[in-house]
Order: sequence, then structure tokens, then C-alpha cells
Amino acid sequence: MSFTAETPIAEIASLDKKLLKNLTKIGYTKVNDLLSHYPKRYENRERFDEFPHEATESPICFKGEVIDSSRKFYGRRRFFEALISDSEGAGLNQITLRWFNMVFIHKIIMVGQKIIVYGKVKKSGKRLIIDHPEFEIVETNNTNSGIHLERITPIYPLSSGISQRPLREALFNIVENIEGNGFPEILPPNDFVEMPRIKALGAIHFPASDNELAEARRALACEEFFILQLNVAYRKAQHNALPGSANCGPGKLLSNLLSSLPFEMTAAQSRCVDEIRSDLASTKPMNRLLQGDVGSGKTLVAVCAILLAVEAGSEAALMAPTQILAEQHHAVLSQWLEPLGINVGLCTAKKKTGSDLPLFEQNSPGVIVGTHALLYDSSNSENLGLVVIDEQHKFGVSQRQKLINKGSCPDVLVMTATPIPRTLTLTVYGDLDVSVIDELPPGRGKINTYVRQSKKHLSDSVKFLKTKLGEGRQAYIVYPLIEDSEKIKVGSVEGEFQKWSENLSPFKCELLHGRIAPDEKDSIMDRFRSGAIHVLISTTVIEVGVDVPNATIMYVFDAERFGLAQLHQLRGRIGRGKHNSYCVLMTDKVTDDSKQKLKALEESSDGFVIAETDLKLRGPGELLGKAQSGIDRLKLGDLITETELVKQSRSLSSALIKLDPNIENPENLHLRTLIMLDDDNDGVVA
Ligand code: ADP
Ligand code: MG
Repeated sequence: MSFTAETPIAEIASLDKKLLKNLTKIGYTKVNDLLSHYPKRYENRERFDEFPHEATESPICFKGEVIDSSRKFYGRRRFFEALISDSEGAGLNQITLRWFNMVFIHKIIMVGQKIIVYGKVKKSGKRLIIDHPEFEIVETNNTNSGIHLERITPIYPLSSGISQRPLREALFNIVENIEGNGFPEILPPNDFVEMPRIKALGAIHFPASDNELAEARRALACEEFFILQLNVAYRKAQHNALPGSANCGPGKLLSNLLSSLPFEMTAAQSRCVDEIRSDLASTKPMNRLLQGDVGSGKTLVAVCAILLAVEAGSEAALMAPTQILAEQHHAVLSQWLEPLGINVGLCTAKKKTGSDLPLFEQNSPGVIVGTHALLYDSSNSENLGLVVIDEQHKFGVSQRQKLINKGSCPDVLVMTATPIPRTLTLTVYGDLDVSVIDELPPGRGKINTYVRQSKKHLSDSVKFLKTKLGEGRQAYIVYPLIEDSEKIKVGSVEGEFQKWSENLSPFKCELLHGRIAPDEKDSIMDRFRSGAIHVLISTTVIEVGVDVPNATIMYVFDAERFGLAQLHQLRGRIGRGKHNSYCVLMTDKVTDDSKQKLKALEESSDGFVIAETDLKLRGPGELLGKAQSGIDRLKLGDLITETELVKQSRSLSSALIKLDPNIENPENLHLRTLIMLDDDNDGVVA
């Protein structure tokens, strides 16, 4: 029997029934699914590493023989240890493999077995030890030993019920029997990837040499980049084909607003407004990403867009991810726009202004600000000409689309504070035009950031806070949790509130978190804004958008538990006024990772630098939101390091879309199933 990409794995006679069942459980149905289960690493079992005599910096792979095994208790912890000797070196060298609390290991490892071990060696007293190594028992009577040994052997990621050797045997069988024309090329003809798809699929699993493996990996990575970018190019082509009309007033309202403000727009803000203005004036619907670090003044730019559209007779909607932020936008927009005679409506889970009528049928509020509650309003409006989405990464693709669908092909402006390196922008947001606010308004105080151990510095922090509060400033104190938890030993706002209230008396502290009723939340934010509350003891509900320039101090407890981008966002709540600001990141757990992360914040307050570090520490998926960006589909390709390949594959995808914008030519039909026509539902944030 020979296989094509579409052959159901249930039809593979030689496939172990138990394996089949477990593969089906993780959603694998076709040969193609199994072939796309790429190895996580390889062991060259033609030449093993030397049996270790000392600790190693990185993992090594060697062969040995089990000469002893034992179960031990240290305190209440159970260990299983296996002593391995160098079978070829007359047993002079020995090493201990050690597992904690994994009782089943002793059923697998027996004295006398030959074993292949992979792990990092450490020295403990006189012994050499590997904790929790990966290993494989060499079955001397296994007829399939040619699959497992004497070659560059694939090591697969495993999941429940799926073990290494049966999986490897199944894949070997498939690779041996794949049919040439059963795997159509995905990449269009080109001069930078030479290996045919069918060859690459075989070689990624069972490569004949390191070179062949590298070539196969490159071919398949290029394929992934190509599909990702074909998606983007396809969306862009679809968007460009939409009917639209000019949606831009002469700018009288805009100049009225600007002359009423107590400050000038920055040059960067003006440039962004100009870019938006020409989008609005064109008959093609706008599809623009406005990128600007926290505090760079995105709201004003959005308001300029809104004014231009409203002046042209459109309605506009602005959607924000949290109620606090929506309320704040509503307050700011009302203050700016109502003097110009423009109504600003509000729609959150808590309230819809005006009446019970659906939003767009009310007595024409020119602008509606809301949370995702906007999406559940039943009305649509032909007249909705501009949709603005703030903090767009907090919304899923389908949520964005739902709002957009309330109008008919409205202009769309999405905003984000996450600075995205240019190569990534093109790849992931290539369907959007991008405007960047690359400077902060002048006259801002400096943000000083410090990393401190909470145990040592608690009393200092009380002293410091009292001094600053005494000078008239305000503060945020942030904890990861709402209430204390048995399981996680970190601070909570409810657990710590009393203590702060007492310590900081007579200054007024207040609790703020997501479970507080919307009305109450509102009133707390109002009182904080007006200065009646001096300190907010808060969870990350204040993470996005909140703008209180007099708040200049932030303490974040258990800071290591937050992501880098998230901490940068949190810190963006201070440094918004003329006074200097202080951000203190409190942590008691200092691992290498968290040290690097917190250090990055101490050293820089530039969102671009932070994003680059975040990218290095966690990869692009975390930065951009996986499902939204399609990055979760990259198994082999690395967007950060393989920029050349990304570029080459982009030229292929744009050439293809140019010739066949709807991907409907017969020779391209097989690509249709590969692009993401589906939607996701992620990103609901309360
Ligand atoms: P973000 O980009 O983080 O959304 P905001 O739009 O909330 O930033 O703006 C932060 C603060 O800066 C607001 O108080 C806003 O009024 C103020 N602001 C915006 N533009 C300017 C400017 N050109 N000069 C001075 N202050 C500005
Ligand atoms: Mg904002």
C-alpha cells in the first residue's frame, strides 16, 4: 500500500491499534497530520557522545548499560535511581540517572539492559548524576532496530498514550511508502528551495545526513512562511476589492478641537493624522494599524480620525477592552467633542446611554464608545463609517470583524501599544497599513524603575510612599490576585488591603479589581481621578489605557509573575505627568528568567527595546497573540532568525495573489484549504 497526504491513518494496516486510537484522540486523521508531527530533536546514533567523565554544559547523548537500580526516600520525596556504566569502556565509568516521584520508571528500567541516555550531566559530591533524563531502552531482539539505531534518529514530542518507538515505527513505515504524486508542491516554482516536498517530508523524519536535514527543514519552513503570508496577502486583496467611499470632512472640526487643547500635537501625531486623513479621503476603505508606545497619545489621533469622519456625515464607534478604559474614553471624548456639538454615547455591560433603543437607531449619537458589549447590541448602521479598536491585541479576530460588520465596509483603525519589529509587522500585519507614533509628548517626568526584594524593602516602601503622597502625588499598588489562594503563594489585593490602609493612614486607600460591580468601579476611578482616593490597591484591571497623570508611583508585587509586555503596560500608567515617576518591581523569587525580564524593565522604558527582549525571551507568539497572528501554525520556521527566507516566501505569496487574487485558478485550488478562512474566538477580556 502506498500513501498520499489524504490517506486516512485508520487504513494503514500496520498501524498499532492502540497508537491509532491515541493519535485520533489528538485529532490526527490523515497521513498528512502524522507527517506534520515533526521531531523535536534528533540523536545521531551512528556516533554517540563519549560516556561522560564530568559535568556538561549542555545535554549529551550516550550509550551505556544498567548495572544497578534502587528506590530511595530522601525525607518525604521518593526517588528512583539507576546506575549506568560504560559498557564498552570495561565499566570503569559510572553515572546515576535519577527520577523524583515517578514510580513507574522502575517498571521500565531493568538491570542488564542497554540504554540510550540524553541529558545534562551534573556533579554531586563524587557522583555524576542526570536528573530526569530522556532515555530509550535498546531492545536487542527488536526487528525494527534499523529504524531506531545506526542513523540520525528522530525524537518526537509525545502526548498521553503515545510513546516514542511505536510512533517512530509508524512514521518510518509511512515515509517508506509515500507516493510521489500524493503530495502536491505547496511552494510555487522558485529558485531558492530545491528539495521537492515529498523528499523534504521524508528527510525531516529520517534524514540521511545533517545536510539533508537542514535542507528539508528549510524547505518546510519556507512552506510555513509562504502559507502565513499567503493568508495576509489574500486578506489584503479581499479588503482592497471592497467597495467604499470617501469619508473625510474638510477638517474644520479638527482644527477647532486642536486649537481648544492646552497642548500641541507632536510631530509624530500630526504625521499619523495626515496618513489617516488620506486613507479616509480615498474611496478604498481604510485598514490601518496605529502603533504607539504607552502614553504616546493614540487617543487624540483616534479622535482626529473620528472628527474627520463625523464631519463627512458618518457615525463612528470606538471599542476598548475594559469597562474602565471605555468609561475613560467616553469622558475624554465627551469633554473634547461636546463643545463642538457632537454627541458621544456609551455602551458597556453596565449601561447604554440614551434610551433602550438599539444604539444606532437612537437620536444619532455621532460617536459611540463601548466595550465588547457594543457587539451584542442588535443594531447595524449603514451610516457607521469609522470603526476604531483600541488595544486591538485584547480582541479576537472575530470580535473585530463583528464590529466592522455593523457598518457596510467602514474605515477601520486599530490601535496597539505593542511595538512590533518591522519584519514581523510585514509578515503578520501585512494586510494593514501601519502608522507609528514614535515620540512621546514633551514635558513628561522621568520614570525610574527599581527591582527590589519585598521582604527587605517593605518598610522602606511605606516610608517612600508616605513622602510622595505627602507631596500630593498618587500611587498604584498592584498584586496578581484578587483574594488569597491556598494553592498559589502570592499576594492578593484583598489580603493586603487592610495592611496598606493602616500603614499609609491618613492617606486614603481603595481596592480595585475585576469583580467589583461596574458602578462601584466607576465611582472609585472617578474619586481616584479627582484625588479623593490617594492609593489604588489593584489587580491588572488598570493595565490598559488608564490615564491619571498625577499618579506617579507604582509598586508591583510578585512582579515575576507578570509578562514583560504586561509589566511595561502596567508601568505605562505612571510617567504621564510632569512629575518624576517611580516604579518598584517587588519580587522574592529570583530565577534567571525573571531576573532578565525585570532587569530589562529597570534598564529601559522604551517599548521597542522591551518588545525586542520579550521576543527573545518568549518568542513572537506571546508578543502578538498566537491565534490572531497565525504564528501558532509555525512549527519549524522562526520568524526572528530566518528573515531572508521570510522575505523570499513573501515574494512568492505576493506574486501569486497578484495573478490570482481570489485563489481560484485550478493550479492554486489546493492552497485554499491551507489559508485561514476560519475565525477564532479568543481574546474576551472583561
Ligand atoms: P496612549 O497612547 O497610551 O493611549 P493617551 O492617548 O492615553 O496615550 O495619552 C496619554 C496622555 O497624553 C493623555 O493625558 C493625553 O491627553 C496626553 N497627550 C496626548 N497628546 C499630547 C500632546 N501632543 N502633548 C501633551 N499631552 C498629550
Ligand atoms: Mg490608550
